[in-house]
Amino acid sequence: MPRVHEYHAPIVCYNVDNLPPIDKELLDRLAQNKHELVQELTIPPRDGLAWEVQAGQLFRIVCTEGPQVADVNFWSLHNPKERFYASKTRQLHASHLKAHDRLWSCFPYMRPLATITYESIQYGIDRDGASVHDVIGSRCDPYTNWLLTGQDMNVCCHSNLTRAVAPFGLAEEDVHDVLNAFMCTGFTRDTNQYFTKPSPVRMGDYIEFLAETDLLVAASTCPQGDVSVACGTGKAPQCFPLGVQIFQPSAEMLQGWRPSEPVRYNGGHGMDPQQQQQQQQQQAASVEQHISELLSGNSMKAAALLLGLLALASVAAAAEVKKGGAARRMLEDGASAAPAVTVTPQAVTDAQGAAGTAGTDQSWRGGDWQDWRYYRGGGWAGRWRPPGDSAWGWPGDPGS
Ligand SMILES: [Zn+2]
Repeated sequence: MPRVHEYHAPIVCYNVDNLPPIDKELLDRLAQNKHELVQELTIPPRDGLAWEVQAGQLFRIVCTEGPQVADVNFWSLHNPKERFYASKTRQLHASHLKAHDRLWSCFPYMRPLATITYESIQYGIDRDGASVHDVIGSRCDPYTNWLLTGQDMNVCCHSNLTRAVAPFGLAEEDVHDVLNAFMCTGFTRDTNQYFTKPSPVRMGDYIEFLAETDLLVAASTCPQGDVSVACGTGKAPQCFPLGVQIFQPSAEMLQGWRPSEPVRYNGGHGMDPQQQQQQQQQQAASVEQHISELLSGNSMKAAALLLGLLALASVAAAAEVKKGGAARRMLEDGASAAPAVTVTPQAVTDAQGAAGTAGTDQSWRGGDWQDWRYYRGGGWAGRWRPPGDSAWGWPGDPGS
């Protein structure tokens, strides 16, 4: 006798409405208005390209010559350990993304890296449950291909992305689960198997994102073209380039917007203090190793160098905390050489500081309140609040 299960109606797991709110008016205002075009790029067919976007800029992936899908990756520009988290994004929003959905970063950061302001296909969900712009996550890769065919294949989304990020000091292991822009996919009703349909994207269609923090973005023009041919049939799909456009909205357009911030979970994980300290020491050691690897690499670009410097600063600050000094001298953010004068309060514990775990510390320096934030895994960032101003700003950001 087959087991009979009681029927229950589905329960949506996450109430997206309880997440930090988004400003839909702002997103629609950005989507509906024209902005200064600051950069235009082309992703060649069957290839990859990476580009930087500043926080508050908009960027589009545009269908310029013919139906073509793109596999897209996102990293925090200053810390490639913080990258797009496809599965959490899928759980929070849906398997396929649309305007106003956010692209979340991985633990322990978990913040929006980008938000979709507009996508022009507006496909909805068809009768087979298919839709476009999936965050199912995977990408065509040489390993699966080798298992299926016994052949090497270097032109595939995974390898295209790997080549695209190499000039930015990133490597294959930095490539992660993707957003499949323009791709039309679903799961079969009877067997829950992954399926694709020819992409409905047409010339002029685009998907547009607001960068919620400084980003490195990479995209591959999939050698499957519009994915109208099933994998492994030997038929060669037609492939096209895709356009990338980066826009700078005016301060007026961005009114009310501010960069996203990592969540403030304290990083304890229910461990006892000794366990936690051990783990933090291991983390600190791995950060140091990472920095020395970065510094010895000769293909390193500015982003990677900055990560190294930020991590060094964290280690240096942690060393001072360890010595028990009440004053914490942070590395200057580059602009000011004024000596640090620290007065309390100290919200960061020694242990947190030692491992670069998440935490905050405020100090009075150079006439401004400074708020220092440690990120788990070795980074830190500082921000300032001008005297008499209730708004926090990031260093060097006159708009805040
Ligand atoms: Zn692909």
